[in-house]
Amino acid sequence: MGAFSEQTPINVITGFLGSGKTTLLKGLLAAPDLSDTAVLINEFGAVGLDHELVQTVAESTLLLDNGCLCCAIRGDLQGALRGLLSQRQGGQVPNFRRVVIETSGLADPAPIAYTLLAEPVLQHHFRLGGIITTVDAVNGGGQLQRFPESVKQAAVADRLIVTKTDLAEPEQLAALYTSLRRLNKSAPIVEIGDGDIQPATLLTDDMYDAGGRDREISQWLAAYTAEDALNHGGEAALIHEHADHVHSFALTYASPLDWTAFGIWMTMLLHHHGDNVLRIKGLLNVAGVPTPVLINGVQHIVHPPAHLPAWPGEARHSRIIFIVRDMAQSRIEASLAAFNNLANPDAAPGQAA
Ligand SMILES: [Zn+2]
Repeated sequence: MGAFSEQTPINVITGFLGSGKTTLLKGLLAAPDLSDTAVLINEFGAVGLDHELVQTVAESTLLLDNGCLCCAIRGDLQGALRGLLSQRQGGQVPNFRRVVIETSGLADPAPIAYTLLAEPVLQHHFRLGGIITTVDAVNGGGQLQRFPESVKQAAVADRLIVTKTDLAEPEQLAALYTSLRRLNKSAPIVEIGDGDIQPATLLTDDMYDAGGRDREISQWLAAYTAEDALNHGGEAALIHEHADHVHSFALTYASPLDWTAFGIWMTMLLHHHGDNVLRIKGLLNVAGVPTPVLINGVQHIVHPPAHLPAWPGEARHSRIIFIVRDMAQSRIEASLAAFNNLANPDAAPGQAA
Protein backbone atom coordinates (compact mmCIF):
# COMPACT_ATOMS: atom_id res chain seq x y z
CA MET A 1 0.00 0.00 0.00
CA GLY A 2 1.79 3.06 -1.31
CA ALA A 3 2.43 6.53 -0.04
CA PHE A 4 -0.48 8.31 -1.69
CA SER A 5 0.55 11.65 -0.31
CA GLU A 6 3.58 11.68 -2.61
CA GLN A 7 1.60 11.03 -5.74
CA THR A 8 0.17 13.76 -7.93
CA PRO A 9 -3.63 13.61 -7.87
CA ILE A 10 -5.51 13.55 -11.14
CA ASN A 11 -8.96 15.07 -11.05
CA VAL A 12 -11.34 14.30 -13.85
CA ILE A 13 -13.90 16.88 -14.96
CA THR A 14 -16.58 15.24 -17.01
CA GLY A 15 -20.14 16.06 -17.96
CA PHE A 16 -22.43 16.12 -20.93
CA LEU A 17 -22.00 18.42 -23.91
CA GLY A 18 -22.78 22.01 -22.97
CA SER A 19 -22.98 21.31 -19.25
CA GLY A 20 -20.39 23.92 -18.34
CA LYS A 21 -17.16 21.96 -17.87
CA THR A 22 -14.95 24.66 -19.32
CA THR A 23 -16.63 27.41 -17.31
CA LEU A 24 -16.03 25.39 -14.18
CA LEU A 25 -12.42 24.76 -15.13
CA LYS A 26 -11.82 28.45 -15.80
CA GLY A 27 -13.27 29.32 -12.41
CA LEU A 28 -11.14 26.74 -10.65
CA LEU A 29 -7.91 27.78 -12.34
CA ALA A 30 -8.51 31.38 -11.36
CA ALA A 31 -8.15 30.41 -7.70
CA PRO A 32 -4.62 31.24 -6.47
CA ASP A 33 -4.15 27.95 -4.60
CA LEU A 34 -4.98 25.95 -7.72
CA SER A 35 -2.53 27.74 -10.00
CA ASP A 36 -0.09 24.82 -9.79
CA THR A 37 -2.46 22.64 -11.79
CA ALA A 38 -1.60 21.03 -15.11
CA VAL A 39 -4.59 20.73 -17.42
CA LEU A 40 -5.29 18.26 -20.19
CA ILE A 41 -8.26 19.08 -22.35
CA ASN A 42 -9.76 17.51 -25.41
CA GLU A 43 -8.69 19.26 -28.57
CA PHE A 44 -12.30 19.73 -29.59
CA GLY A 45 -13.20 21.29 -26.28
CA ALA A 46 -13.71 25.02 -26.01
CA VAL A 47 -10.27 26.46 -25.44
CA GLY A 48 -9.39 30.01 -24.47
CA LEU A 49 -8.06 29.05 -21.06
CA ASP A 50 -5.54 31.59 -19.89
CA HIS A 51 -3.35 29.21 -17.97
CA GLU A 52 0.30 28.31 -18.22
CA LEU A 53 -0.06 24.56 -18.12
CA VAL A 54 -2.76 23.64 -20.58
CA GLN A 55 -2.22 20.90 -23.13
CA THR A 56 -4.69 19.58 -25.62
CA VAL A 57 -4.97 15.90 -26.34
CA ALA A 58 -6.65 14.13 -29.23
CA GLU A 59 -8.97 11.62 -27.67
CA SER A 60 -7.88 8.14 -28.68
CA THR A 61 -8.95 4.96 -27.01
CA LEU A 62 -7.08 1.71 -27.49
CA LEU A 63 -9.44 -1.17 -27.07
CA LEU A 64 -7.61 -4.10 -25.53
CA ASP A 65 -7.90 -7.73 -26.49
CA ASN A 66 -10.49 -8.46 -23.84
CA GLY A 67 -12.79 -6.06 -25.67
CA CYS A 68 -14.05 -4.49 -22.45
CA LEU A 69 -15.03 -0.86 -22.94
CA CYS A 70 -14.05 0.26 -19.46
CA CYS A 71 -10.69 -1.56 -19.46
CA ALA A 72 -9.39 0.43 -22.39
CA ILE A 73 -6.29 2.59 -22.45
CA ARG A 74 -6.70 6.20 -23.40
CA GLY A 75 -3.56 6.42 -25.51
CA ASP A 76 -3.82 10.19 -25.70
CA LEU A 77 -3.75 10.56 -21.92
CA GLN A 78 -1.07 7.98 -21.43
CA GLY A 79 1.21 9.91 -23.78
CA ALA A 80 0.30 13.29 -22.32
CA LEU A 81 0.83 12.18 -18.72
CA ARG A 82 4.19 10.61 -19.50
CA GLY A 83 5.12 13.83 -21.28
CA LEU A 84 4.11 15.93 -18.27
CA LEU A 85 6.20 13.74 -15.99
CA SER A 86 9.35 14.07 -18.02
CA GLN A 87 8.81 17.81 -18.52
CA ARG A 88 8.40 18.25 -14.79
CA GLN A 89 11.50 16.19 -14.08
CA GLY A 90 13.47 18.18 -16.66
CA GLY A 91 12.23 21.51 -15.35
CA GLN A 92 10.55 22.42 -18.66
CA VAL A 93 7.23 23.06 -16.99
CA PRO A 94 6.46 24.57 -13.58
CA ASN A 95 6.28 22.07 -10.76
CA PHE A 96 2.57 21.25 -10.92
CA ARG A 97 0.99 19.59 -7.92
CA ARG A 98 -2.19 18.34 -9.50
CA VAL A 99 -3.57 17.46 -12.90
CA VAL A 100 -7.04 18.09 -14.22
CA ILE A 101 -8.32 16.17 -17.20
CA GLU A 102 -11.34 17.69 -18.88
CA THR A 103 -13.06 15.02 -20.93
CA SER A 104 -15.19 15.47 -24.00
CA GLY A 105 -18.94 15.42 -23.39
CA LEU A 106 -19.45 11.79 -24.32
CA ALA A 107 -16.31 10.39 -22.72
CA ASP A 108 -16.50 7.52 -20.29
CA PRO A 109 -14.56 8.26 -17.08
CA ALA A 110 -13.68 4.58 -16.48
CA PRO A 111 -10.92 4.28 -19.12
CA ILE A 112 -9.23 7.32 -17.59
CA ALA A 113 -8.99 5.46 -14.28
CA TYR A 114 -7.82 2.39 -16.13
CA THR A 115 -5.13 4.32 -18.02
CA LEU A 116 -3.79 5.60 -14.74
CA LEU A 117 -3.75 2.33 -12.87
CA ALA A 118 -2.80 -0.06 -15.67
CA GLU A 119 0.69 1.25 -16.20
CA PRO A 120 3.34 1.02 -13.47
CA VAL A 121 5.09 4.30 -14.29
CA LEU A 122 1.92 6.35 -14.26
CA GLN A 123 0.62 4.52 -11.20
CA HIS A 124 3.84 5.29 -9.37
CA HIS A 125 3.61 9.02 -9.94
CA PHE A 126 -0.12 9.69 -10.11
CA ARG A 127 -3.21 8.71 -8.25
CA LEU A 128 -6.86 9.17 -9.02
CA GLY A 129 -8.30 12.23 -7.31
CA GLY A 130 -11.95 13.14 -7.50
CA ILE A 131 -14.26 12.67 -10.47
CA ILE A 132 -16.24 15.88 -10.91
CA THR A 133 -19.32 15.78 -13.10
CA THR A 134 -21.15 18.84 -14.36
CA VAL A 135 -24.88 18.59 -14.93
CA ASP A 136 -26.90 21.28 -16.70
CA ALA A 137 -29.79 22.39 -14.46
CA VAL A 138 -32.09 22.94 -17.42
CA ASN A 139 -31.18 20.09 -19.78
CA GLY A 140 -29.61 17.63 -17.34
CA GLY A 141 -32.83 15.79 -16.48
CA GLY A 142 -33.61 15.09 -20.13
CA GLN A 143 -30.04 13.98 -20.80
CA LEU A 144 -30.23 11.48 -17.93
CA GLN A 145 -33.33 9.99 -19.53
CA ARG A 146 -31.93 9.76 -23.03
CA PHE A 147 -28.20 9.18 -22.80
CA PRO A 148 -26.49 6.31 -20.98
CA GLU A 149 -23.24 8.31 -21.12
CA SER A 150 -24.82 11.01 -19.02
CA VAL A 151 -26.12 8.50 -16.45
CA LYS A 152 -22.71 6.94 -16.09
CA GLN A 153 -20.94 10.26 -15.71
CA ALA A 154 -23.30 11.20 -12.87
CA ALA A 155 -23.17 7.76 -11.25
CA VAL A 156 -19.39 7.56 -10.94
CA ALA A 157 -18.94 11.14 -9.72
CA ASP A 158 -17.35 12.18 -6.43
CA ARG A 159 -18.81 15.69 -6.92
CA LEU A 160 -21.90 16.67 -8.85
CA ILE A 161 -21.82 20.24 -10.04
CA VAL A 162 -25.19 21.52 -11.16
CA THR A 163 -24.62 24.46 -13.49
CA LYS A 164 -26.89 27.24 -14.76
CA THR A 165 -29.15 26.93 -11.72
CA ASP A 166 -30.14 30.57 -12.23
CA LEU A 167 -31.91 29.52 -15.44
CA ALA A 168 -33.88 26.59 -14.02
CA GLU A 169 -37.34 26.47 -12.47
CA PRO A 170 -37.50 25.23 -8.85
CA GLU A 171 -39.55 22.15 -9.85
CA GLN A 172 -37.04 21.35 -12.58
CA LEU A 173 -34.21 21.49 -10.05
CA ALA A 174 -36.09 19.35 -7.53
CA ALA A 175 -36.77 16.63 -10.12
CA LEU A 176 -33.15 16.70 -11.25
CA TYR A 177 -31.88 16.35 -7.67
CA THR A 178 -34.17 13.38 -7.08
CA SER A 179 -32.73 11.68 -10.16
CA LEU A 180 -29.16 12.47 -9.19
CA ARG A 181 -29.64 11.28 -5.62
CA ARG A 182 -31.01 7.96 -6.77
CA LEU A 183 -28.02 7.43 -9.04
CA ASN A 184 -25.45 8.66 -6.58
CA LYS A 185 -26.17 9.41 -2.95
CA SER A 186 -22.71 10.19 -1.69
CA ALA A 187 -21.46 12.85 -4.08
CA PRO A 188 -22.13 16.33 -2.72
CA ILE A 189 -24.26 18.39 -5.09
CA VAL A 190 -22.77 21.81 -5.61
CA GLU A 191 -24.82 24.47 -7.36
CA ILE A 192 -23.28 26.97 -9.69
CA GLY A 193 -25.44 29.79 -10.93
CA ASP A 194 -23.88 32.24 -13.35
CA GLY A 195 -20.25 31.38 -12.78
CA ASP A 196 -20.22 31.63 -8.99
CA ILE A 197 -17.61 29.01 -8.19
CA GLN A 198 -16.23 28.27 -4.74
CA PRO A 199 -13.13 26.30 -5.64
CA ALA A 200 -11.88 25.66 -2.11
CA THR A 201 -12.58 21.98 -1.69
CA LEU A 202 -13.77 20.96 -5.14
CA LEU A 203 -10.39 19.70 -6.25
CA THR A 204 -8.48 19.40 -3.03
CA ASP A 205 -10.65 17.13 -0.92
CA ASP A 206 -10.49 13.52 -1.95
CA MET A 207 -10.20 10.24 -0.17
CA TYR A 208 -6.41 10.00 -0.41
CA ASP A 209 -5.63 13.61 0.37
CA ALA A 210 -4.17 13.88 3.88
CA GLY A 211 -5.79 17.28 4.49
CA GLY A 212 -9.24 16.67 3.03
CA ARG A 213 -9.69 12.95 3.53
CA ASP A 214 -11.57 13.09 6.83
CA ARG A 215 -14.04 15.64 5.49
CA GLU A 216 -14.52 13.63 2.33
CA ILE A 217 -15.09 10.27 4.01
CA SER A 218 -17.31 11.60 6.81
CA GLN A 219 -19.37 13.31 4.17
CA TRP A 220 -20.07 10.17 2.11
CA LEU A 221 -20.65 8.00 5.13
CA ALA A 222 -23.13 10.55 6.48
CA ALA A 223 -24.94 10.69 3.15
CA TYR A 224 -25.85 7.02 3.42
CA THR A 225 -26.61 7.05 7.12
CA ALA A 226 -29.09 9.87 6.58
CA GLU A 227 -30.71 8.38 3.52
CA ASP A 228 -30.75 4.67 4.36
CA ALA A 229 -33.64 5.27 6.72
CA LEU A 230 -35.59 7.09 4.05
CA ASN A 231 -34.78 4.99 1.11
CA HIS A 232 -36.83 1.87 1.44
CA GLY A 233 -39.85 3.31 -0.33
CA GLY A 234 -40.49 3.48 -4.06
CA GLU A 235 -39.51 6.66 -5.82
CA ALA A 236 -38.69 5.14 -9.16
CA ALA A 237 -41.59 6.64 -11.04
CA LEU A 238 -39.75 9.92 -11.41
CA ILE A 239 -37.03 8.57 -13.61
CA HIS A 240 -37.12 6.43 -16.68
CA GLU A 241 -35.06 4.51 -19.15
CA HIS A 242 -31.29 4.59 -18.62
CA ALA A 243 -31.32 6.19 -15.22
CA ASP A 244 -33.95 3.72 -14.07
CA HIS A 245 -31.49 0.86 -14.16
CA VAL A 246 -28.86 2.45 -11.95
CA HIS A 247 -29.15 2.70 -8.20
CA SER A 248 -26.95 3.25 -5.21
CA PHE A 249 -26.86 1.73 -1.72
CA ALA A 250 -24.52 1.10 1.21
CA LEU A 251 -23.82 -2.12 3.13
CA THR A 252 -22.71 -1.97 6.75
CA TYR A 253 -21.01 -4.71 8.75
CA ALA A 254 -20.35 -4.51 12.45
CA SER A 255 -18.05 -7.53 12.69
CA PRO A 256 -14.66 -7.47 10.97
CA LEU A 257 -14.29 -8.75 7.43
CA ASP A 258 -11.72 -11.33 6.47
CA TRP A 259 -9.36 -9.57 4.07
CA THR A 260 -8.58 -12.58 1.90
CA ALA A 261 -12.22 -13.57 1.57
CA PHE A 262 -13.22 -10.01 0.80
CA GLY A 263 -10.49 -9.70 -1.83
CA ILE A 264 -11.58 -12.87 -3.60
CA TRP A 265 -15.21 -11.87 -3.42
CA MET A 266 -14.58 -8.41 -4.87
CA THR A 267 -12.33 -9.79 -7.62
CA MET A 268 -15.02 -12.26 -8.62
CA LEU A 269 -17.78 -9.69 -8.43
CA LEU A 270 -15.90 -7.29 -10.68
CA HIS A 271 -14.78 -10.04 -13.03
CA HIS A 272 -18.33 -11.20 -13.61
CA HIS A 273 -20.26 -7.97 -13.18
CA GLY A 274 -17.74 -5.14 -13.57
CA ASP A 275 -19.70 -3.71 -16.49
CA ASN A 276 -22.60 -3.14 -14.11
CA VAL A 277 -20.71 -2.16 -10.98
CA LEU A 278 -20.17 1.48 -11.83
CA ARG A 279 -18.58 2.43 -8.56
CA ILE A 280 -17.55 0.87 -5.24
CA LYS A 281 -16.01 2.79 -2.41
CA GLY A 282 -15.77 2.01 1.22
CA LEU A 283 -14.04 1.85 4.52
CA LEU A 284 -13.36 -1.68 5.76
CA ASN A 285 -12.95 -3.02 9.25
CA VAL A 286 -10.50 -5.80 8.47
CA ALA A 287 -9.99 -8.55 11.04
CA GLY A 288 -6.65 -8.08 12.80
CA VAL A 289 -6.09 -4.56 11.44
CA PRO A 290 -6.64 -1.68 13.90
CA THR A 291 -7.19 1.07 11.32
CA PRO A 292 -9.62 1.25 8.40
CA VAL A 293 -8.73 0.12 4.90
CA LEU A 294 -10.02 2.29 2.08
CA ILE A 295 -11.24 0.70 -1.14
CA ASN A 296 -12.11 2.55 -4.31
CA GLY A 297 -13.16 1.15 -7.65
CA VAL A 298 -14.59 2.35 -10.94
CA GLN A 299 -16.08 -0.59 -12.85
CA HIS A 300 -13.38 -3.26 -13.32
CA ILE A 301 -10.70 -0.93 -12.07
CA VAL A 302 -9.71 -0.97 -8.43
CA HIS A 303 -7.34 1.51 -6.87
CA PRO A 304 -4.73 -0.17 -4.61
CA PRO A 305 -6.21 -0.31 -1.09
CA ALA A 306 -4.95 2.31 1.36
CA HIS A 307 -4.60 2.18 5.15
CA LEU A 308 -6.02 5.22 6.86
CA PRO A 309 -4.33 6.43 10.05
CA ALA A 310 -7.53 6.30 12.14
CA TRP A 311 -11.24 5.64 12.13
CA PRO A 312 -13.25 8.79 11.37
CA GLY A 313 -15.73 8.23 14.22
CA GLU A 314 -16.52 5.96 17.12
CA ALA A 315 -17.96 3.05 15.22
CA ARG A 316 -15.58 0.63 13.52
CA HIS A 317 -18.12 -0.56 11.03
CA SER A 318 -17.29 -1.58 7.50
CA ARG A 319 -19.27 0.61 5.10
CA ILE A 320 -19.29 -0.21 1.43
CA ILE A 321 -21.05 2.00 -1.08
CA PHE A 322 -22.20 0.51 -4.36
CA ILE A 323 -23.50 2.18 -7.49
CA VAL A 324 -24.78 -0.57 -9.77
CA ARG A 325 -26.82 -1.15 -12.88
CA ASP A 326 -29.45 -3.90 -12.95
CA MET A 327 -28.15 -5.63 -9.83
CA ALA A 328 -30.18 -6.27 -6.71
CA GLN A 329 -28.78 -5.15 -3.37
CA SER A 330 -30.00 -8.41 -1.80
CA ARG A 331 -27.90 -10.52 -4.17
CA ILE A 332 -24.72 -8.59 -3.53
CA GLU A 333 -25.37 -8.70 0.19
CA ALA A 334 -25.99 -12.45 0.18
CA SER A 335 -22.90 -13.26 -1.86
CA LEU A 336 -20.59 -11.17 0.33
CA ALA A 337 -22.06 -12.72 3.47
CA ALA A 338 -21.59 -16.20 2.04
CA PHE A 339 -17.96 -15.51 1.20
CA ASN A 340 -17.10 -14.00 4.50
CA ASN A 341 -18.72 -16.81 6.47
CA LEU A 342 -17.03 -19.39 4.32
CA ALA A 343 -13.55 -18.20 5.18
CA ASN A 344 -14.31 -17.22 8.73
CA PRO A 345 -17.06 -19.47 10.06
CA ASP A 346 -16.83 -18.76 13.79
CA ALA A 347 -15.58 -15.23 13.70
CA ALA A 348 -16.31 -13.14 16.73
CA PRO A 349 -15.84 -9.36 16.62
CA GLY A 350 -12.18 -8.40 16.89
CA GLN A 351 -10.86 -11.86 16.20
CA ALA A 352 -8.46 -12.43 13.33
CA ALA A 353 -9.12 -15.37 11.07
ZN1 LIG B 1 -13.69 -3.38 -17.94
